[in-house]
Amino acid sequence: MPDIASHRIRVGAFDCLVAKDGSTSPRPLSELMADPPDGLADHPITMLGGILVADTREGRVLIDSGDGPHRGPRTHAAELALAAEGISPESVDVVLLTHGDPDHILGLLTAEGKLVYGDARYILHRDLWTAWQSPPSAGLYFPDQGTFVKQLAECIAERHTLFDGESEAIAGIMAIPALGHRVGHTVYMIESEGQKLLHIGDAAVHPPFLEYPGKVNIRHDTNQEQARDSRRMISARAASEGAMVVGTHFELPGVGTLTHAGEDRYTWTPIVAQERN
Ligand SMILES: [Zn+2]
Repeated sequence: MPDIASHRIRVGAFDCLVAKDGSTSPRPLSELMADPPDGLADHPITMLGGILVADTREGRVLIDSGDGPHRGPRTHAAELALAAEGISPESVDVVLLTHGDPDHILGLLTAEGKLVYGDARYILHRDLWTAWQSPPSAGLYFPDQGTFVKQLAECIAERHTLFDGESEAIAGIMAIPALGHRVGHTVYMIESEGQKLLHIGDAAVHPPFLEYPGKVNIRHDTNQEQARDSRRMISARAASEGAMVVGTHFELPGVGTLTHAGEDRYTWTPIVAQERN
């Protein structure tokens, strides 16, 4: 039975839940970072994934889905974390996608190929949607995803909305394309009552990528230069706007803030999980 790992975080009037999903064991940072900063090469990181739920005034929003029943064995299952918090699949009104890698979308379909979040509207970058169309697998980093994404695209054909540039996904959440990691990769700025939480997807898989945004590359980014520029944008924006930051693969508590500490240099401060009232 997979574990449940989640915590709540408050963003103004929005109640948010970060939940972990997937399976992994720690790896040295140098396996993922082409040019790790001094002293960080042996730093162990895990690639455990995750999801985020935000209860906004316009409805319940889910960002990405985890692996669901399609990949395993998993040490952590996001759908169990949701169930433990009383969050039913039917209660999700909007699904936002950061990108189309398996650990972010496989959980959208049941083992039988039906939508898990059957009442939701799906919002994604136009380039990702285009990559899911014919020919199968075009633009996908994992070529064996062709059958799954075709099925997924058919399921959401009548219930999706596309965006190109920075735009409001729903009230209180801005979609901000941050390209480079994968086709159409997008981050989401959640804002309520002056507080902000930036969900950065896989733009950085560990806080040091944001602390040194221009110095390092993630080995598996599709376009490393673009991904580096996106990380610079994210770090600068999070620091200047005072936004909390959460990354799909960050270890719990998984949320922190960035402070500008020099040219291309930021400092990460984790935020300890808040207890639920
Ligand atoms: Zn990922």
